[in-house]
Amino acid sequence: MTFEQLDLIEPILNALTREGYKVPTPIQETAIPIVLNHKDLLGCAQTGTGKTAAFAIPILQNLHKKYPNQKQHRTVKVLIVTPTRELAIQIDESFNSYGRNLPFRHTVIFGGVNQNPQINALKAGVDILIATPGRLLDLQQQGFVHLQHLDVFVLDEADRMLDMGFIHDVKRLIRLIPEKRQSLFFSATMPDTIRTLAASILRSPEEVHVTPVSSTAETIEQAVYLVDAGNKRDLLLHLLEDKDIATALVFTRTKHGADKVQRYLSKGGIKAEAIHGNKSQNARQRALSNFKDRTTRVLVATDIAARGIDIDELNLVVNYELPNIPETYVHRIGRTGRAGLDGKAISFCDTEEKPYLKDIQKLIRIQIPVISDHPYPATAAVPEIRKNPSRPARSSAGRVVRKK
Ligand code: AMP
Repeated sequence: MTFEQLDLIEPILNALTREGYKVPTPIQETAIPIVLNHKDLLGCAQTGTGKTAAFAIPILQNLHKKYPNQKQHRTVKVLIVTPTRELAIQIDESFNSYGRNLPFRHTVIFGGVNQNPQINALKAGVDILIATPGRLLDLQQQGFVHLQHLDVFVLDEADRMLDMGFIHDVKRLIRLIPEKRQSLFFSATMPDTIRTLAASILRSPEEVHVTPVSSTAETIEQAVYLVDAGNKRDLLLHLLEDKDIATALVFTRTKHGADKVQRYLSKGGIKAEAIHGNKSQNARQRALSNFKDRTTRVLVATDIAARGIDIDELNLVVNYELPNIPETYVHRIGRTGRAGLDGKAISFCDTEEKPYLKDIQKLIRIQIPVISDHPYPATAAVPEIRKNPSRPARSSAGRVVRKK
């Protein structure tokens, strides 16, 4: 299926092309028509499945149809509530991307920061508001958020919301929004408490289930190497001595980092190229096709640059630096082991990255096997990482194990 077949309007199709999206993900295929039809939706899906676009795209299209001339007073027409600041920012960025050719204004509000810039944005008028529950209620009580003209309400990551103790906030919020509205409800899991909450929000919803991303993680062989930051590049060179690795995608957190790793590998005699936002579109395309036809063995990339890259038969993903957003880990390792092929994901973890590792393991509900016997073991002690008790680390990357 293509995005055109979903009857999307030109401005959105163009924005998706610019994002490099070629085909809709399964949840997008199913959910976009439902939302375009103004139906309520109960989506069982995790971050990483493309669920943000699954709701953002049809919401934008419906707004465009209902408000073809964005001249009238801007009121909050769409409210998206999500549990964490990181998710809120990501959703805001998605609206920015998919709505780049449309005139709607969106803003994001979350706690833990000065409220004044957020108040100013609200005062300037927004059509789409993305918020975490606490700050939203706070600003609503202070009179800066008006929800009486709401058309669409999205509750994202409902199970995480409950885990984080936001249930009362959510219930309070429901009382503040118009009864006549379209509601979309997303949760990675559907225990009874979530179903009850969903039933209190949705009207005759359509249900969509997609395989959670963590199950992707279960099919990929994963390993973590504890290593000092300064030794990562030598550890990478050492691993790439294995001639069985025909292709490797190496992720760094920064553009600068990607260039540095690429230069080091090239000096070490390994054909490597880097792609990131500072490279021209042409340079990125060239690097990508060199990698695809195996002229280049190693592609070093940042997350943004690697979005939408689809590489068949990728042997290995290396997290040279661990991402601070755990979902990003799942996106990264999902590049390997596709279509039933064997895939391997290796992560380098230095002392400062240990909290990231913890978050990742919590999300994927897997204890990633730790490889200790390598030439560059970390010098610092490793207190809080629990090795899998039933499966001690082996010299090669172990098959992933589900946490009981
Ligand atoms: P989400 O589950 O919304 O967090 O999306 C996961 C990632 O997939 C994000 O980085 C999106 O930019 C990307 N993505 C979403 N839809 C598509 C698509 N149809 N094609 C390629 N990438 C996509």
